[in-house]
Amino acid sequence: MNSAVQYRLSELYFNIYPRLVNRFNPSAPHSISIYIDGDRHYPFWGRAVNSKMIISAHRLRNPQFYSRYYDIFLHELAHLVQQYTTQNLADVEWLGEGLADYVRYTYGSDNLNADWPMIEYRHTQNYNDGYKVTARFLIWLDYKYNSSVIDKLDQGLRDVTYKQNTTWKELTGKSVEDLWKDYSQNPDIIHHIPWI
Ligand SMILES: [Zn+2]
Repeated sequence: MNSAVQYRLSELYFNIYPRLVNRFNPSAPHSISIYIDGDRHYPFWGRAVNSKMIISAHRLRNPQFYSRYYDIFLHELAHLVQQYTTQNLADVEWLGEGLADYVRYTYGSDNLNADWPMIEYRHTQNYNDGYKVTARFLIWLDYKYNSSVIDKLDQGLRDVTYKQNTTWKELTGKSVEDLWKDYSQNPDIIHHIPWI
């Protein structure tokens, strides 16, 4: 592995992973294994299971993709902290992926070489599109309400207490559909967040 890439991955791990464990899940693995798959056994960029992360070396030799790599790495670190059960995640995968990208955006923001452009809101999007779309909505919620909403959504997925019909209302007084409607009417509130 290119030593600059290795250095950056270590830096992300040691700087950010402990903060994620502290905030979201102190019971998350305190020691993890990272495998670089050079044989392309995995069709995806990265994957996180239990305390193990597998990242594909497919494009690791091309400097053009290094920054993208840091992006994936941080997203997968978020999954290691989540430790959601698969039974629960099957129904709400969009939220788990949105929360992982929320972490990617919020904790990766001061890494200048990383590739974390915030996407724009579009009326064709929906809250359950997952990944960047859901993440942008979660950042808006974080700003509009407070970070404990994010923390409790994450906790609810881990405890399997999250319920689409009731959890959002308990946390904010509104259904997720109504929150999305508010967001779609004023998505630019997000620009008040300093890293944008
Ligand atoms: Zn993911």
